[in-house]
Amino acid sequence: MHFSNENRLVCILPVTPVENPPFERFFSPLAAYAIARLLKSKLQLLVNLTGLRIAERYKDPVAGRHLFWNQWSLFLDQVVTESYVIDDQDLGYAEFVHQQFGSIPSFKEAFGDIAGCLCGKSEMFAELVGGAVRSSRTQIRYESGVYSCRSCGQELKKARRHILQLRPVSTAIPVVLPRRYQTEVIMMLQTLRGRNTLLSRSFRQEETETKVEEYIIDPDVWWSLLPVWVARKVDTVVIVVAYPALWHAVRAYLLMAEMSPAPKVEFVIHPRVGIVDCLTPLKGRPLTEYIDMAGSPIVARLFPFLGLRWNNSHTFLKGSELYLAQHSCKPLHPITEQDSLPLSSVLDVLNRDTLLKLLKGRRSRYDVVSPTGLFLEEALHCNW
Ligand SMILES: [Zn+2]
Repeated sequence: MHFSNENRLVCILPVTPVENPPFERFFSPLAAYAIARLLKSKLQLLVNLTGLRIAERYKDPVAGRHLFWNQWSLFLDQVVTESYVIDDQDLGYAEFVHQQFGSIPSFKEAFGDIAGCLCGKSEMFAELVGGAVRSSRTQIRYESGVYSCRSCGQELKKARRHILQLRPVSTAIPVVLPRRYQTEVIMMLQTLRGRNTLLSRSFRQEETETKVEEYIIDPDVWWSLLPVWVARKVDTVVIVVAYPALWHAVRAYLLMAEMSPAPKVEFVIHPRVGIVDCLTPLKGRPLTEYIDMAGSPIVARLFPFLGLRWNNSHTFLKGSELYLAQHSCKPLHPITEQDSLPLSSVLDVLNRDTLLKLLKGRRSRYDVVSPTGLFLEEALHCNW
């Protein structure tokens, strides 16, 4: 395939690989794959290997990279190549992060009152702990007047620490699709830009690669620069993100917008697709079992798109519709290559209704594919 849209790159928020994940975890990569094909843009799947539990098991973080490649390859009928998947252990990435930290004026050293636990999962400015508990976006629990960490159970301790923080200066905002999320994204950015953001971690002291001078960088901050790193040779990066991860995406954008040069960011926010079980349980199936049940990579990557209703932040998809996908998948005519689409038209092509029409058409003897259907066929059907 040729790329006609070389100034733009499509990626996902970095995913942490796990062994035998439920197949639902691949929805964002699949959506990004289809969107990149419609835009005729390059796709890069980003993998977060920092602070990986699997690294403790393998003693080799790069094993996590291969794990993700192998899993993603199951959807494509081909082995994924190195240029396709980028992670934070990549050569040059650490150097890039150091360089950015050294040159961004809004990254500042300071003393701050920090609340934290020894496992390192819960750590933030002490003044923000109460609000964080109420927002439910945190590992911190409040019970009988005590704040504790959900992960290790320890009570949070407070200490004055030498820290690295971000005092945002950028007022940039990303393009947001569907547009219904624009206000929510702007509100999140206003909240984040109205205060300092803690970039370093100081409670859990250990050997780590995420270090800039004497500061241990928060792993969530470390991976946040990956989209900037992969987008350094293009003008625009399209980040495909599931609605439940929107807060993480906006936090990452907060950092990206401070970079120099900052990439233009376009978010495509897809719903979380929940599977409703019918006769054969499908919900939460490990990836390899799901691929077997689907019977082919084409069906495996096509089925989740039946849950794609852009007007909802959470949608449900009946497991029984896997059989609809299986029995309608074969095209009755050769798939023709389409031109690239503007991002604004992508949602009109990539959705449940267009896919249903396409599948139903294939089951009838008089298969007439609509113009949107032709685009969808190309987006979901062929390999790179
Ligand atoms: Zn903890």
